[in-house]
Amino acid sequence: MPILNSINQMQEEMKEWRRDLHRIPEIGLQEHKTSEFIQNKLKSWNIDFKTGYANTGIVAWIKGNRGNGEKTIGLRADFDALPMTEKNSFDHKSMNEGMMHACGHDGHTTMLLGAAKYIKENPEFDGTVYFIFQPGEEGFGGGEKMIQDGLFNDHKIDEVYALHNWPELPLGHFGISTGAMMAAVDEYDIIVKGKGGHAALPHLAIDPIVIASQIVLSLQTIISRFLNPVDNALITVTKIHGGSAYNVIDDEVILNGTVRTFKQEIRDKIEKRINETAKGIAKANGGEVEVVYFRKYPPTINSKKESVFSSIVAKELVGEKNVQMDVEPSMGGEDFSYLLNEKPGSYLYIGQRDSNHKDYLHTTKYDFNDDLLPIGVNFWVNLVKNFFKK
Ligand SMILES: [Zn+2]
Ligand SMILES: [Zn+2]
Repeated sequence: MPILNSINQMQEEMKEWRRDLHRIPEIGLQEHKTSEFIQNKLKSWNIDFKTGYANTGIVAWIKGNRGNGEKTIGLRADFDALPMTEKNSFDHKSMNEGMMHACGHDGHTTMLLGAAKYIKENPEFDGTVYFIFQPGEEGFGGGEKMIQDGLFNDHKIDEVYALHNWPELPLGHFGISTGAMMAAVDEYDIIVKGKGGHAALPHLAIDPIVIASQIVLSLQTIISRFLNPVDNALITVTKIHGGSAYNVIDDEVILNGTVRTFKQEIRDKIEKRINETAKGIAKANGGEVEVVYFRKYPPTINSKKESVFSSIVAKELVGEKNVQMDVEPSMGGEDFSYLLNEKPGSYLYIGQRDSNHKDYLHTTKYDFNDDLLPIGVNFWVNLVKNFFKK
């Protein structure tokens, strides 16, 4: 793999940054130490930046020295962690109880910092590169909040790109699709209201547990019986809360769950069917139901031209056979989708699996593979170089 020498030379220091970040995981738009870490690095390299996006987010930029070109490109890394307890015992394990970098955002941030450092030292291009350091990806919609706080109003950014490490792919391989990469993520609450009573006198009560049970089973048929079989979607019930004693029928049961889809019309259809199914079953049983449907992240859909471009850059770096085109879309969600809703761009997987890194994302023994750092940085650098040649 033709990694630039000067990037290979940065590997040891990048490994240290990555491990420093891994020790201080923070979540939920409260990533103050992480944000400070990034800002300190940018300051030390004299890179301009602006804060105040989604609380802890940062936008940095480097103008090339080959003219006053208007072209711009935005590279994004997320930097939040997850509310879970790390089970690793290595030196750089989390020092923040109950928080862990289990999605590799410590690595994404390090790769983008490495790219910023390199590009600052090698600004031979005509235009501006933006580095978008985004907090709160894991369920807090940091991407959307950065846009609301002026990401694209303050800065003219033509195209956006992001990388996510991917344990399913071998180290240094890339995976990309020229369409859907990740699903839309929605959540729902179904509040089933019956009428409480003595467990031995069911005829005087309306049992919400029986109603809720029928709803759970019927939700399973929305995908199989109401959608076209070629459309991908998922409905899962993840929580059931109700009841307090062996001999009491309670008043209420609450169901919660998630819906994943790739198309707006399917999303609309499922929301409608969940409502109709729950209400119909409750009514048939003499009860009532309240459905609250929350639309969270939109689907992450790559734009075609930019994805073909980024795949060519990846192929030149790691070889054609190591870039998997048309990867299966993931049912996971990603708030880079908000950026892709505004600008053309692409989101790529970068493989991280080797004999020491087999754990999946969001598991307690996961760790970002540091051997990926120079590959990711070199990808960013080549993407930028080729972008300004386009
Ligand atoms: Zn994640
Ligand atoms: Zn992630």
